[in-house]
Amino acid sequence: MAAEAPAKIPGEDAAPTPGSSVTSDHGVPWYTRAVATVAADLGTDLQSGLDDAEATLRLASHGPNALVESRRRGPARILLAQFTDFMVIVLLAAAVVAGAIGEPQDTIAIIAIVVLNAMLGFVQEYRAERAVAALKAMVAPQARVQRAGVARTIHGTELVPGDLVLLEAGNVVPADLRLIEVAQLRIEEAALTGESQPVDKITDVLAEPELPLGDRRNMAYKGTMVTYGRAVGVVVATGMQTELGRIAALLREEEEVKTPLQRRLARFAQRLALAVLALCAVIFGIGLLRGEEPVLMFLTVLSLAVAAIPEALPAVVTVSLALGARRMVARNALIRRLPAVETLGSVTFICSDKTGTLTENRMRVRAIRTTDALARDAQSPKGAESATPPLLLALALSNDAERGPDGAVQGDPTEAALFQAAADAGYEKATLERTMPRLGEIPFSSERGKMTTMHRDGGGVIAFTKGAPERVLKRCTHGLTASGVGSLDQSEVSAAAEAMAADGLRVLAVASRNFAALPEDLSPDAIEGDLTFLGLVGLLDPPRPEARAAIEECKTAGIHVVMITGDHPATAAAIARQLGIVEDGDRRVIAGPELARLSGDALGDIVEGAPVYARAAPEQKIKIVKALQERGQIVAMTGDGVNDAPALRRADIGVAMGRSGTDVAREAAHMVLLDDNFATIVTAVREGRRIYDNIRKFVRYALTCNSAEIWTLFLAPFLGLPVPLLPIHILWINLVTDGLPGVALAVEPAERGVMRRPPRPPTEGIFARGLWQHALWVGLLMGGVALVTQAWAYHAGSAHWQSMTFTVLALLQLGHLLAIRSERDAFHRGFFSNLPLLGAVTFTVGLQLATLYVPALNRVFKTEPLSGPELAFCFALSTVGFVAVEVEKLLVRRGVLYRGDPDPARP
Ligand code: ATP
Repeated sequence: MAAEAPAKIPGEDAAPTPGSSVTSDHGVPWYTRAVATVAADLGTDLQSGLDDAEATLRLASHGPNALVESRRRGPARILLAQFTDFMVIVLLAAAVVAGAIGEPQDTIAIIAIVVLNAMLGFVQEYRAERAVAALKAMVAPQARVQRAGVARTIHGTELVPGDLVLLEAGNVVPADLRLIEVAQLRIEEAALTGESQPVDKITDVLAEPELPLGDRRNMAYKGTMVTYGRAVGVVVATGMQTELGRIAALLREEEEVKTPLQRRLARFAQRLALAVLALCAVIFGIGLLRGEEPVLMFLTVLSLAVAAIPEALPAVVTVSLALGARRMVARNALIRRLPAVETLGSVTFICSDKTGTLTENRMRVRAIRTTDALARDAQSPKGAESATPPLLLALALSNDAERGPDGAVQGDPTEAALFQAAADAGYEKATLERTMPRLGEIPFSSERGKMTTMHRDGGGVIAFTKGAPERVLKRCTHGLTASGVGSLDQSEVSAAAEAMAADGLRVLAVASRNFAALPEDLSPDAIEGDLTFLGLVGLLDPPRPEARAAIEECKTAGIHVVMITGDHPATAAAIARQLGIVEDGDRRVIAGPELARLSGDALGDIVEGAPVYARAAPEQKIKIVKALQERGQIVAMTGDGVNDAPALRRADIGVAMGRSGTDVAREAAHMVLLDDNFATIVTAVREGRRIYDNIRKFVRYALTCNSAEIWTLFLAPFLGLPVPLLPIHILWINLVTDGLPGVALAVEPAERGVMRRPPRPPTEGIFARGLWQHALWVGLLMGGVALVTQAWAYHAGSAHWQSMTFTVLALLQLGHLLAIRSERDAFHRGFFSNLPLLGAVTFTVGLQLATLYVPALNRVFKTEPLSGPELAFCFALSTVGFVAVEVEKLLVRRGVLYRGDPDPARP
């Protein structure tokens, strides 16, 4: 790598540490070395960067630029985890002991079932793990590099030492860099130093050899954020060699995030486990008193404990959320944090940017007004024909858009539209820049709401300023008319701008100022004053057609949509009306300055009824989020800029943009819209509600089944009946019923009217609306039916009583499953709407019959083939659960039960 022996530098003799972020190959800190030396050391060309062949070679030797995650569990660890459950271990041990003193066949059967159960858990968790990993890979940031003389975008993981990286505001630094060129670069390094104040960066050599990280101002470190400016840097370290990599190596693990639902379920499972163990002790005691065989009794209650303790519930939630997140990606909603899937279902407010999310972000110039023609109707043709040359010059030159290699205009949509309008009138930027090159600039920022560029103009200099009319006009003293520079009627211009904005146009005012030479002081105050007003430009950005429908859907779903924009209040109001966010005549628009004046309490009083914020600064978003959250609202907030990051983090669902927008916003967000489209948020909410419903269905199913098993074993002795089921029966029922059929609930289609009911209150637990009552009474009913079967067959002297009880209990659970596919509807969306579930039920029935009619399995399960009438009897009884749940749902639909839940079918 190092091609050249550099000049003698202190520390030269130190041991080399290749590829380290701190030191070069010579053991000298990178920040103490001159740019040219660094380039030579890393064998890179500061103009063209590495060539492709070299980059490929280096990638092979250095490995990908990624942090090694130790948290990712490999298949082996996931599999092992399935067997480390305490109860399972006790069961296996007991089975072995019982086998040693009794029948080894039992031991083998129990072990086989426990292993099958573990396999099932493994397959699910492994799928979930892979889904999460795939999602993570999709959000990995990209990097702009200069390679073989061409700037291009590559995957951040493909960076190698020696690459030239181009940074701009909003980027997350992709590797450790020695900066070689900076333009007002500021980087926030809190991730490494804890200091949230951005650091001004330089390229000069820093002589001191042992600077703390925060003082190494000519370096940029992986994982830190560019908040302002632009830069070029050479990669000095990648992956685990970076400063971030060292910390990652120290800490090694990212904290595993548990969703509120998972935490609640884990707590619930613990409490239930204690109750189940207590019941098991009672069953065991009664069994002994009745003279049952102690070893068998012990195995029975142990099997019951393993079957009935719902320790898998939190894992099921992860699986459902992860698989749900995978489905959401297919619909352009990329989930970055799993708990978001759960939260989505209870969102009550969606606060959205206007430009690009609610609108198409395809700006076109629709109106140009010079001082002479201010009064024109905004709907009239563009007016470009009347635009004066200086105005068109300003549009072309005070512009950061460029023509790409294919001739298409590239850049910010506002700028691109202005570029195009000027070009259409014959003012091509590149041609004009030959005689009027740019000499200086004061860049645009949302805070300033304007930008200025300075150009050579014959012997002197001309500055063009464009931006929000109220900001630019304040700085204007004159106006340009056909007869030359004259006085300016500010109120007339303001009224014209207001009229254009009321038509939904984004309005910019354009002005100029002449200087004899480029001023020394390039501060906004010095340059942007004493301006000559040139004209107004109105741009149209049509609302997205699908956004209107999505907003309508939000209304029926009890979700408030709020528009937050940097645009003028009149523009905001017009677009909000077109989208249906406000009604005609509704003038509730809060402007940024007004918002700034409101105290927290005052905002709290109005925040729930404010649909539009205009001229809002990104920092004000957090004020809105907080005010809403203090009122108990669950807020989704969109954002794309660096300054949006705090609000995105604070929101319950921070939403960033995949196409436009910055890395910083994406890093902070919980969800990324791959198509930047508002309608996608609503799709995600709908999907979130469906997933939550389905988790609830699984919980309902699993708890009811468990409760049925417990009731059966608990009540039998009180009815003077022998122990109804053998350990292997209990484990089997648990395996086949929790297995495939339970999993198939995850693909259950959404409930009818999911988006016609209000959001789930965030405080509402998963057991609300009758879930635990259901588990208790339906469980009792199913247990009762099983015991009736047992009692009848037992007293009739049938030798098959146990096989019948076993079969009825298994079939009852499947009948119950078919009924709870919907919380309210009979035959959810038609009987055949979830084919995987029907397939799983059929398959499970087949397995159950196999335990009865396959001779080899008879021996394992200690069952006997049932006669035709006996089997028919079992099937007939097993419908009781189904019928009972349908009756329960009928009562819910009639409003007799669980009244808190309004019927979505009735508006
Ligand atoms: P939204 O919040 O709806 O997405 P936005 O964030 O795009 O809007 P900003 O980009 O902050 O809004 O723009 C605010 C105002 O700044 C605009 O209304 C316009 O007057 C002015 N403006 C926007 N872009 C430019 C630009 N390139 N040059 C000068 N002024 C601009």
